[in-house]
Amino acid sequence: MNVLVIGGGGREHALVWKIAQSPLVEQIFCAPGNAGIAGLAHCVDLQVDDVDGLLAFAQKQQIGLTVVGPELPLTLGLVDRFREAGLVAFGADQKAALIEGSKSFSKDLMAKYGVPTAAYGTFTDVAQAREFIRRQGAPIVVKADGLAAGKGVIIARTEAAAIAAVEDILCDGAFGAAGSRVVIEEFLEGEEASFLAFTDGTIVLPLASSQDHKAAYDGDTGPNTGGMGAYSPAPVVTPEIHDKIIEQVLKPTIAGMAAEGRPYSSILYAGVMIKDGQLKVLEFNARFGDPETQPLLARLKSDIVPVLLACAQGDLSGIELEWHDKAAVCVVMAAGGYPGNYEKGLPITGLEMAAAIQDLTVFHAGTSEKDGKVVTAGGRVLGVTGWGSTVAEAIDKAYEGVRAIRWPEVHYRTDIGRKALNR
Ligand code: AMP
Repeated sequence: MNVLVIGGGGREHALVWKIAQSPLVEQIFCAPGNAGIAGLAHCVDLQVDDVDGLLAFAQKQQIGLTVVGPELPLTLGLVDRFREAGLVAFGADQKAALIEGSKSFSKDLMAKYGVPTAAYGTFTDVAQAREFIRRQGAPIVVKADGLAAGKGVIIARTEAAAIAAVEDILCDGAFGAAGSRVVIEEFLEGEEASFLAFTDGTIVLPLASSQDHKAAYDGDTGPNTGGMGAYSPAPVVTPEIHDKIIEQVLKPTIAGMAAEGRPYSSILYAGVMIKDGQLKVLEFNARFGDPETQPLLARLKSDIVPVLLACAQGDLSGIELEWHDKAAVCVVMAAGGYPGNYEKGLPITGLEMAAAIQDLTVFHAGTSEKDGKVVTAGGRVLGVTGWGSTVAEAIDKAYEGVRAIRWPEVHYRTDIGRKALNR
């Protein structure tokens, strides 16, 4: 079978890497891919929002399975278009993708179906938003309603900062149409975890637990990013918390989506905040998380292709997931300045040295090839992923890889996975 993966980040490199191990697969194409993916798949020069171009390509190449990585093509209805054309596509359809595409929709869904989440209000009017902030006090969290590439969430320490964020979004159009509405919510304390599950709308097939590190700098300081590293398993997800996430979050959410006429058959990502054995949902994503997918797929023993096919066809019965009994840690190496402005086109050295290290794989995120050399091409550049029999061993392995790799102004956190050791 020929497979098409849509996207070009670390998540897609991990997906391509895992799919390439399947005996069911002949050729893999990836659009647009990156310099690392190019070693495993044919990279196709089509952007993720070029739905017409991607559909024409899939038809021409007789693609048997298309796997969508990022959220944008999901919300644009790529999966609907592919299925209308008789193609098998893994990903949420347009109606289901609203769970990520609109934060106010997902908050209202949670409220309606009793899924625990932070108290909130939704506003299009600045005066009302200001009034709400004054009543609630700070700290408080302001979120642009629509897709904002992971940048639409502002944790405001003061009322003034919250009001400024609302004005930026509603009046100054900081996030364009994604900011025509804001969700303002209670600030939650605790420890975050990422919980992903495949579902066909009825069966829930959870992946192993994982934890992302959103903040740019060590000790969870600095601005939020797309994610600076992740590890799996995450001990904060105890067996009790695991069961609570399935019973209190995933099952009612999936049933709620069906009841709303938006049946959900894909991977569902719940970001949860855990405190004193209780949990509240921070957000849903209608896709694999990045970087969590990198350590998760590094631990997945089962062939992923039958799982993706079954999910795309809406029937997960008989499908099980087997995991390697080891930990994996992914450290993101980012461009200096990320998540703000950064330079591109800087040559990366040490990739061969890292490739020679056992129990390590380097997933590329923002890279491209120039004059035969791999150069930086994005904010998050690499996801250096190490294995070990414990999280501590996997941390050592990942940082051994990180130390082998260099480019000017490279930036990475030095404490990825440390929270697991503190438990
Ligand atoms: P979201 O995209 O909604 O998950 O927000 C991105 C990140 O912002 C989360 O992973 C948290 O680190 C943080 N965050 C979001 N909502 C809250 C909240 N209500 N309280 C505390 N932190 C939050």
